[in-house]
Amino acid sequence: MDISFVAPSHPVSGIVLGADNGVICSTSFKITGDEHEFLQKRISKLRERSKYKVVFQPFFCQKNDSTRAMVQVADVAKADFSELDAQEIGAEIFVVVQDMLEEDILVDFSHQFSPGLVAHIAAGFKIRSFKFDKYKKPSPKHVAIKNAYFISSAPDLTAKAYRDIEAVADAVDFVRTLSSEVPNVLSPEAMANEAKNLKRFGVKVDILDEKDMAKLGMNALLGVAKGSAFEPYLAVCQWNGGAKGDAPIALVGKGVTFDSGGISIKPSNNMHEMKEDMTGAAVVLATMQMAAQLALPLNLVGVVGLVENMPSGTAQRPSDVVRSMSGLTIEIQNTDAEGRLVLADALFYAEKEFAPKCIIDFATLTGAIQVALGQEFAGLFSNDDNLCQKLAKSGDTVKERLWRLPLDTAYDVDIDSEIADVKNVGAGRGAGSITAAQFLQRFILNKTPWAHIDIAAVSYDKSSRTLTGVGFTGFGVRLMYAFLRSVVDDEGRI
Ligand SMILES: [Zn+2]
Repeated sequence: MDISFVAPSHPVSGIVLGADNGVICSTSFKITGDEHEFLQKRISKLRERSKYKVVFQPFFCQKNDSTRAMVQVADVAKADFSELDAQEIGAEIFVVVQDMLEEDILVDFSHQFSPGLVAHIAAGFKIRSFKFDKYKKPSPKHVAIKNAYFISSAPDLTAKAYRDIEAVADAVDFVRTLSSEVPNVLSPEAMANEAKNLKRFGVKVDILDEKDMAKLGMNALLGVAKGSAFEPYLAVCQWNGGAKGDAPIALVGKGVTFDSGGISIKPSNNMHEMKEDMTGAAVVLATMQMAAQLALPLNLVGVVGLVENMPSGTAQRPSDVVRSMSGLTIEIQNTDAEGRLVLADALFYAEKEFAPKCIIDFATLTGAIQVALGQEFAGLFSNDDNLCQKLAKSGDTVKERLWRLPLDTAYDVDIDSEIADVKNVGAGRGAGSITAAQFLQRFILNKTPWAHIDIAAVSYDKSSRTLTGVGFTGFGVRLMYAFLRSVVDDEGRI
C-alpha cells in the first residue's frame, strides 16, 4: 500500500473520507443500494466504537459514468489532539475502509488537523493495516487498498513529517512480522540474518556463533540450545550516531525462537504460542533499525541471544549446573525458565564489552506477569529510579505503559541454590516475575543502571487495541522511540 500526501484539489475515484462536505463532492457519483446499506452498517458500527467520537456520516452522490465514491463527513468531538490521538484516528479510519473493495481511498481531515498531525493519521492508518498472510492463498473477493491519499494543506511538510513516523511504524511492523513468523522458518540463524540485514541501514553487526560463545564461556546461553538441532547465535548490533567515545545505551533481548520448555516440557494446549518467545530480541533489532533510519544522535548497542529450547537426548536436564560467562554458576531446576539463562550471558556481555550508560532488556519472560498486571501494563524492574521514571513517562506518552514491581534482597532466598551460586527458578512462593528479575540482577555486576521489561503479556493482544487491533502489538518499539527521543532532548542524560 502506498501512502501519499496531496493538495485539496487532488482528483480521485474510489472512497473518499472527508471533513469537508461540499468541496470534494462537487462532481457527482453513483452508488448502488447494496453499497449504501453496507456502508451504513459499517459506519454505525464504527460510530459506536470510535473513542474519539469521530462521526462518519455517509454522503452519496452520482457521477455520470461508473466511477463511484463515497464521501463521509467526519465530525471530531475533541479539540486538542495529541500525536497518538491522530494515529488512533488513522487506525479507526482503516477499520472503516478496509473491506470496502476499493483500491484507492482519499482521506481529508485537513480542516481539523495540522499538516504534522495528518502525518500521524497516515501512520496510524498504516500501522493498523498490518497483515501477516503470506501462508494463505489470496481470497479472490478481497480487494486490497493500493493507494491511500491524505489531503494536507501543506503536502510537502506532511510528507517530511511522515518520513520520520514511518520509520517508527516500519519498526513496529518489523516486530510484528518476526513474532508472526513460524519457528520452522525463523530459526536462530534466520533471526541472526535479520540482524545482519540491518547493515543496510548503517548498523554495525557482529554475529557470534557457538564456538565464539564457547570461547567466551557463555554456558548459560549455550545450555539452553543443547536440545535443539538449530545452532545458537548472539547478534551484536551497534548504531554509532552519537559522539565518539560516548557511552552507549545498551538494549538486550531474549530471542528464543521456539520454547517447548525443554525437558521440563510445557503442556501442549498453548504451546504453539511459544513461537513468539523471540519478541524481546525483535524489539531490540527493530529499535536499532529505527534509530539508524532516524539517524538518532546517540550511541546504541543491541545484544540479542538467539536459541531454540527443545527436549532431546542432548538437552540440558533439571539439576544440571552451568557456569555463566560472569563466572557465577547456575543450577538448572526447570529447563523452561530458559529466558533468564539466555539473558544472564547477554546482559553480562553487554555490560562488560560496552560499559554502557544504561541497559534495558526486553523479554517475554514470565507467564506470571499476566497474573500481576494483565495486558494493560508491561512489568518494569530496575535498580535505578531515574531510568525507571524516564521509561515510565515515555511509555505513558505512547500508551505502552509500564508498571514498576519491586526488586529486593528479601527475594534472594528464593533463588539461592544449595549447590550453585544461584538457581533458575524461585522456591515456589509466588512472585514469579520478581524472582526472575532478581535472578537477572545478579548478572549486572557493575551496578550499571538497568531496567528489565517483561513483555510476556503485552506482546500479543487478544482484545483489539485501537492502533494495532487483535494480534502482535510490537510493544516496546514506540516506547523506545519516545525514550530515545527524551534522552536526545536531555543531551544524553538518562
Ligand atoms: Zn520457557
